[in-house]
Amino acid sequence: MIELTYKKNVEKYVNNNLEVLEDLLDKAAQKYIKLKNKKNKLDFGQKLTPKNLESLAPVVIAKTMDYLEVKHATDCYMSMFYLPDQIKRSLKVAAGTFIVAGLACSLDKLTISNLIMSGMIAALFGAGSIVLAKESYANSSFDYKYNHLMIGAKNTVNAVGSVAHEYTHCLQHYFTDLNIKHNLNNPIIEGHARGLEGIISEKYAQDFNNEAYNYLHSERVARELKIAYLYTCNKKEITPKKSLKELPIPLDSIFFYIIDIDHYSLGVTAMTIASAKNGDDVYKKVMKNDFDFLKIIP
Ligand SMILES: [Zn+2]
Repeated sequence: MIELTYKKNVEKYVNNNLEVLEDLLDKAAQKYIKLKNKKNKLDFGQKLTPKNLESLAPVVIAKTMDYLEVKHATDCYMSMFYLPDQIKRSLKVAAGTFIVAGLACSLDKLTISNLIMSGMIAALFGAGSIVLAKESYANSSFDYKYNHLMIGAKNTVNAVGSVAHEYTHCLQHYFTDLNIKHNLNNPIIEGHARGLEGIISEKYAQDFNNEAYNYLHSERVARELKIAYLYTCNKKEITPKKSLKELPIPLDSIFFYIIDIDHYSLGVTAMTIASAKNGDDVYKKVMKNDFDFLKIIP
């Protein structure tokens, strides 16, 4: 029943579980605040480079597959923004642009000033291509058309959660009925991926006795649960609890939870509630297109 994962139903599911959400928000906030207070002392590993991403990613992918009980790997491309590589690529863009711009200018008359103009345009395009490339990697993402995982993490610790999250999208695309193309209607897509991000990060935190692995995920979940809580209270026309409303979790924009809710906050909240009620097996169930745990019991 794929309809159970649609925004309308997921919103109802969260609505029906407001008390569970209150409890989960409080716990998530306490975990985040504790980590935040010692953030400066946490070890976030090395700066992420293509080389260490190449050795880290297969292990994270294997752990993600293992957890979700997926037997067959799906091939994917993976890349990250890396300035030295990008400069090489941008030099090619700049050279290409120089020729094109040079030709366009010289159609009229080849003069020194035209050549200078071409050089300036080329430099601008080269620099622009670096900025654009950097921006496209600001957040990690999965491009289902090219099966391409783009990793935006800056260090090896945060890369673990990013790879687990994006590879989960890749598995969703191949093995489930969740529609990556229209993911606005399927908040569970993000809820499910965020869940694996947290589960694999927690495994690393335990294996390497390093709480830094939990930091980013904990910050995101605390924020997403708070947004969903305030949004749900507003929808139900009830006053949010003062203790929860005032939790020191930074929110991006007040409009998020007054007018509409983003699919990350909604999906993450629904999956967090579902796993609190039914256990972490819900993440495996998604892989089998079993969404019954989202049924609303009156
Ligand atoms: Zn995602």
